[in-house]
Amino acid sequence: MLNVPTWTTDRVELLKNHFEAGLTCREIAASIGVSRNAVIGKLARLQLTRGPARAEPRPTKAARERSRKSIPRLQYKILQAVYENAEPLPEVAITSERRCSLFELSNQRCRWPIGTPGAEDFCFCGDTPVEGMPYCTGHTRLAYRPGSRQRVARAY
Ligand SMILES: [Zn+2]
Repeated sequence: MLNVPTWTTDRVELLKNHFEAGLTCREIAASIGVSRNAVIGKLARLQLTRGPARAEPRPTKAARERSRKSIPRLQYKILQAVYENAEPLPEVAITSERRCSLFELSNQRCRWPIGTPGAEDFCFCGDTPVEGMPYCTGHTRLAYRPGSRQRVARAY
C-alpha cells in the first residue's frame, strides 16, 4: 500500500465546502470517501465546529434542498403540492381544446398525451397547466389521484 495521506488538498477543500453547505459528518465522509471519524477529527483540527449555539436547522436545510435537486425530488414536490394543498383542485371537465404536437409543447401547455404514440392523431392536451405542474387542472387530478398510477403509465 502506498502511504497516501488521507487529507489531500482537494479533500480538505471538499471538506470545507461540504461543511459550509451544512452536510452532516456522515454525508461529508460518504462524499469524500473517508471515514466519518476522519471527518470529525479533521474538522476538529481545522477548528470547524458547529457548536450547539448555532445548530439551527435553517441554513443546513436550505443547503440540503439545493444539493438534492433531482427529478424524483421534483416529482415528490409535485405530489406534495397536490396532496398538501389546502385547496383541492376543482373538479373540472378535461376539454383539451388547445391540442398540440410534441414540437408545440412548452411550459405553458399541458403535456398529457392523447391517443396512441405514433398514431396519426397523436397529440398532447395543450391546455394551460396548473402553475408549477406539467399538466392542466383536469390532467393533474388524473395524474396524481391516489391509486391512479396505472392510468398514468398507460397515459391515454
Ligand atoms: Zn391537460
